Amino acid sequence: MTDAIPLKLFNSLTRQLEPFQPVHPGEARVYTCGPTVYNYPHIGNMRAYVFADVLGRTLSFKGYKLTHVINITDVGHLTDDGDEGEDKMEKMAAARAQSIWDTAKHYTEAYWADIKALNIRQPAHWSIATDYVPAMIDFAKSIADKHCYELDSGLYFDVSTVADYGRLARANTEEGEGRIEAVEGKRNAADFAIWRKTPPGEKRQMEWDSPWGRGAPGWHLECSVMSGQLLGFPFDIHTGGIDHREIHHPNEIAQNQAFCCTNGLDVPANSGARVWMHNNFLVERSGKMSKSSGEFLRLQLLIDKGYHPLAYRMMCLQAHYRSELEFSWDGLGAALVRLKRLLMTVGNLRAQAAPAESWGPKFAPFLERFDAAVSDDLNTPVALTVLEEVAALKKVDAGEKLAVIAAMDAVLGLGLLTLERADLRLRPKSATIADSEIARLLDARKEARANKDFAASDALRDELAAQGVEVMDGDALGWEWRLS
Ligand code: AMP
Ligand code: ZN
Repeated sequence: MTDAIPLKLFNSLTRQLEPFQPVHPGEARVYTCGPTVYNYPHIGNMRAYVFADVLGRTLSFKGYKLTHVINITDVGHLTDDGDEGEDKMEKMAAARAQSIWDTAKHYTEAYWADIKALNIRQPAHWSIATDYVPAMIDFAKSIADKHCYELDSGLYFDVSTVADYGRLARANTEEGEGRIEAVEGKRNAADFAIWRKTPPGEKRQMEWDSPWGRGAPGWHLECSVMSGQLLGFPFDIHTGGIDHREIHHPNEIAQNQAFCCTNGLDVPANSGARVWMHNNFLVERSGKMSKSSGEFLRLQLLIDKGYHPLAYRMMCLQAHYRSELEFSWDGLGAALVRLKRLLMTVGNLRAQAAPAESWGPKFAPFLERFDAAVSDDLNTPVALTVLEEVAALKKVDAGEKLAVIAAMDAVLGLGLLTLERADLRLRPKSATIADSEIARLLDARKEARANKDFAASDALRDELAAQGVEVMDGDALGWEWRLS
């Protein structure tokens, strides 16, 4: 299954689909830019980790030994991706009247809860930026002479000292990036701080001594150091959201080139990672989703409104990761129903048999098409339809069918063999009525109807409705009621 169909991935560096060729035979080493833990992640952020998870699961499915690293940025990320603005962490900690450490802990735990709820597998390492500051200083020291210059505000990387700066972004170095504002004394508009000095007379909560004075590392430096230390340069795949293709990743690449003492990007290994992959954004109709604006969609909000978090994972899988995906409550509801249908089939199968050890030749063409879909740059929308075709197969052994569904779900991660259908019932936080009470009222209503006492049956229906329970007679999915 693994050799016949080669895995092809879209490399942002070349803007082409390329066959995956691991640096170390049989292995796949992947680094994913993690969250800056100054606030809760919104569901757009979580799309980036669902994507990275599907990539990791696909690499495992294709037989590679996966080492995945996701970092936690708890220092250094400014409110602007360039060098303007305040440190996001310092700003939020001040607003919460809490230490940065407590703030980081709170939001890291919230992020990890979302990771778990979305069935995202644990990476081999969660690298915490503040654990790597001495390594960052060493890295900066090794490139400072040839590639950096000092200003009052910090140590800056001169992007003209490496070949092809901005190739990933397809940006013009001379003009720089529109969003990068000028810092007085910068040699090129796109130059960036790799060490930010604490301004004289100020004291930051997080600061370290360095050859360039007390201060804190730049955000881009963090990812270069953690990826290089944990995976070794060059490693296979670096992922992030599409916004990182413009500033953060070009800057990481420039540092990696400087560190590896290599020049042109024509040798792909010179960028630190061979393949750079970016997920497109989840958007709202009103425009870009932003957690900086204060108003944002958290996974917890979806849960509070009664949606199972894996309905959101299903919503992500229905779109290709390189397409923009528009969030809507209707779309989420449709994804939930799709997941329910699959679970209904799986529930029936589980009532008949346990997953078999293997399966017969009937299933081979489906597995081949599934493999072809995920191997085609993670085409999950097509993979999902193949899974549904398997679910709909008639006159096949229940245990074998279950085993095939499990094999496919190992890639998609929808929890098909562990979820119960009742887990997917819409249960908004505001609904307080207990399931046992609903069952009692429904039984009474059934009895009234059996006795043709329609007045009593209608009264019971109204009583349920008053508590937010809608009775669903004749529902196609076999649901008797829902909370609305
Ligand atoms: P941040 O915590 O801001 O560094 O973002 C965490 C990850 O989410 C990064 O990989 C971003 O590129 C990604 N991201 C941010 N906004 C969105 C969005 N609306 N849709 C998808 N990914 C996003
Ligand atoms: Zn990063």
